[in-house]
Amino acid sequence: MPDSKAARIITIVAHGKPGRLAPGQLEFRSPPPLSLYVHIPWCIRKCPYCDFNSHEARRQIPEADYIAALIADLESALPLIWGRKVSSIFFGGGTPSLFSGQSLDTLLTAIRTLVPLLPDAEVTLEANPGTVESEKFAAFRDAGINRLSLGIQSFNPAHLKALGRIHNGNDARRAIEIATRHFDNINLDLMYGLPEQTLAQAMDDVDAALAYAPTHLSCYQLTLEANTAFAAAPPALPDPDCCADMQDAIEARLAIAGFTHYETSAFAQTGRHCRHNVNYWTFGDYLGIGAGAHGKLTLHNQVLRQMRWKQPKQYLAKVAEATFIDNEFAVDSADLPFEFMMNALRLNQGFDVSLFEARTALPLVSIENELRQAEACGLIVRRPGHIAPTELGRHHLNRLLECFLTEKPGNTP
Ligand code: SF4
Repeated sequence: MPDSKAARIITIVAHGKPGRLAPGQLEFRSPPPLSLYVHIPWCIRKCPYCDFNSHEARRQIPEADYIAALIADLESALPLIWGRKVSSIFFGGGTPSLFSGQSLDTLLTAIRTLVPLLPDAEVTLEANPGTVESEKFAAFRDAGINRLSLGIQSFNPAHLKALGRIHNGNDARRAIEIATRHFDNINLDLMYGLPEQTLAQAMDDVDAALAYAPTHLSCYQLTLEANTAFAAAPPALPDPDCCADMQDAIEARLAIAGFTHYETSAFAQTGRHCRHNVNYWTFGDYLGIGAGAHGKLTLHNQVLRQMRWKQPKQYLAKVAEATFIDNEFAVDSADLPFEFMMNALRLNQGFDVSLFEARTALPLVSIENELRQAEACGLIVRRPGHIAPTELGRHHLNRLLECFLTEKPGNTP
């Protein structure tokens, strides 16, 4: 589900090489805010563009066993987060809304018992607009979910079909209507640059979404990811100029509608940005539990990355053996600036220098050459104590990030 694109960034980072960090090399004075990510890996059907860790639910989902495994997984991680408060929880997938309200209630009750949640913690659930899930929205609210993220993608039946989605435009409208009865904080995921989509059709989707006055919109361009059905048999997509026009038109329309464009693909009404994702983008910490979940935890002298077992069956079996982690490594201190920038430069307003130093335990001067290069190329702008991407930098984020790679393309031995 595209609202998890933040998780994709994390995946790229977490597949990096194991670190060579010497203990004691870094010293973190205080840990950053902590979020909890819970991965639910099943979907009714695999969408042809999807490269997330999602699996078709061919048989009955082992819901009770999986909830028990998640609780055991969280218990096992407690020593790493002892004494720290959790500021947000995000149920992503897959399709978390396939689970019952009762299961989520059981899990959230266990989470509240095991970790201290901030009183105003944001608790998001990703949901799909299939009618079965929509009927559960009241139960989700009662369980403690206070933000719903709906994977609408489009209202256009032909485009939904081309995307392989199981819902149609009416399901999407009905799901939003039911959601607004139970939630006052709703994100709608939209995609543009869809097979044979015109600019006018992309804007029709945006207008249809705006009619429901959501607090947040995520607008993603469809991209062809490796190891997907679309990569194997690519559909006819609009040309890059047309996609760029769509992006410009969407940004302009949402600005008029009062939305702040605060991250590459994220638009929010005042005060309604996704706090969980902003924690990723400000290089905060997150514990990830569930099949294939990734985590980043700042310890006193290192940044630790963890990956859980990816396949749901394997995850359940390994948890039963009390073997929770598939891979774990300390991030090489030389890689921390790139990892920080890969997140923080997605934020249109940029970041304070003090944030870089707090999150990496490195002085900004350690990347002065890289900053100068990015500035000389017109990709960032520096003010006293603050760094932000320029419009050019935002539109060429990969080029900007290359400035901070320890092994730049073409320089790799
Ligand atoms: S609903 Fe489709 S896009 Fe979303 S996680 Fe499942 S397969 Fe992927």
